[in-house]
Amino acid sequence: MYADTQLLIDNVWGPAQSGKTLPVLNPATGETIGTVAHAEKADLDRALAAAQKGFNVWKRMSSVERSKIMRKAADLLRERLDHIATIMVMEQGKPLVEAKGETSLAPENIEWMAEEGRRAYGRVIPARIPGVYQMSLREPVGVVAAFTPWNFPINQAVKKMAAALAAGCSIIVKGPEETPGSVAELVRAFVDAGVPPGTVGLVYGIPAEISSYLIPHPIVRKISFTGSTAVGKQLAAMAGEHMKRVTMELGGHAPAIIFDDANLEVATKVLAANKFRNAGQVCIAPTRILVQEKVYDDFVERFTAAAKAVKVGNGLEQGTTMGPLANDRRVQAMEGFIADAIQHGGEVRTGGARIGNVGNFFQPTVMTGVPTDARVMNEEPFGPLAVMSSFRDIDEAVSEANRLAYGLASYAYTSNSTTATRIAAEVESGMMSINHHGLALPETPFGGVKDSGYGSEGGVEGLEAYLSTKFVSQAAI
Ligand code: NAD
Repeated sequence: MYADTQLLIDNVWGPAQSGKTLPVLNPATGETIGTVAHAEKADLDRALAAAQKGFNVWKRMSSVERSKIMRKAADLLRERLDHIATIMVMEQGKPLVEAKGETSLAPENIEWMAEEGRRAYGRVIPARIPGVYQMSLREPVGVVAAFTPWNFPINQAVKKMAAALAAGCSIIVKGPEETPGSVAELVRAFVDAGVPPGTVGLVYGIPAEISSYLIPHPIVRKISFTGSTAVGKQLAAMAGEHMKRVTMELGGHAPAIIFDDANLEVATKVLAANKFRNAGQVCIAPTRILVQEKVYDDFVERFTAAAKAVKVGNGLEQGTTMGPLANDRRVQAMEGFIADAIQHGGEVRTGGARIGNVGNFFQPTVMTGVPTDARVMNEEPFGPLAVMSSFRDIDEAVSEANRLAYGLASYAYTSNSTTATRIAAEVESGMMSINHHGLALPETPFGGVKDSGYGSEGGVEGLEAYLSTKFVSQAAI
């Protein structure tokens, strides 16, 4: 059932002009399951010309008309949910239930933005002179180039597509070569719903070749990237050189702070679920678990038991709660982080090794006693590895939380509202969720500070990222 993925240019699905393709592997079996078309400059030139044409049509449609088409795309995604989720598991590895959850959130993102696009209000500013109207108008930025990763193939792409389209922009998505099929199904829903030719485009290839061609290109007016901080900095610098608007959703290293007055049962359940979801390949995954001294031993025991209860297996098998890592780079990265942490004196409480030699399976891992100069305490592990340390008081917890240059998500568990208010104010992060996991909804902003990037996706802030302001002052003759 896994089909080869083609490029979408000018509403036509087709191969790259060179005929080149890249293989797509199933991370649970290591087998090649299909191919993805590999775009080069000639294909990108066609995609750019189509996007410019698409923008000229789409921006002139009323926001009500745009909203209708977007809602139709949302309906099609709902109808095709089972098919799309299965493709996602085959190419990405996550359990089917997670793939269905991700796919079913896409229509919600589209519908929310489709409606919000109808409220892209400007304002009228009282003038100093009678008969003069001063207007601040909201306009679509223009053609967008979006670069989306493999960890949430649909969710990362839909956030960008829904906001860009709602604002009246056209968009070229450079999808993830490792998980191209599910992104193609998302794009297909928009095409089948009736977006005008060129409004959406989809290309794959060598990421650096595509970004270094699209970002400086005069047709492209806005860049949106989700991925690692290292790559984000390169792309943001390139965009800056060419004065392009940018949204950067980059890496994280989320602290989760558990105070001794927390409900440990809830904290364990929610944090363990979110640590091992998508095998830890989540930019907002809790990684540094900081526990107040009095409850440290108790919490480590509970969390380790939760990690041991995770059922690792093929995402298509019933009962699997964690699939394989998405690619073998992640397995090697996990092995490197763990060996380094052990060398620094850390102790493995559970897990610590790959499982078998078929596919990219890895044990859910919990470590304690890892000092702050170990690599995993400084670099994003992006895998199923939680590191637990204790803290004395809130000042020490805040200081550890803010030690790194990352500032994406953070979490805290406490039953004291003064502690909750203080921790929310003092931790440097773009998002903080207290006593539950409440991030990444269509209506709420999602984004980081410091090295985790800038700009938000989701919420009114997400639409704002694709609008520019034009001031018009008009006098009656
Ligand atoms: P990577 O840094 O090579 O790639 C990450 C993503 O960026 C991929 O989707 C890739 O296609 C894209 N990319 C890489 N170089 C690019 C370029 N020059 N131009 C445009 N796009 C480019 O690493 P990887 O091995 O694929 O992933 C591992 C790391 O990436 C993780 O450690 C994590 O920090 C980060 N990552 C973050 C997210 C996120 O949600 N923020 C998602 C996926 C990966």
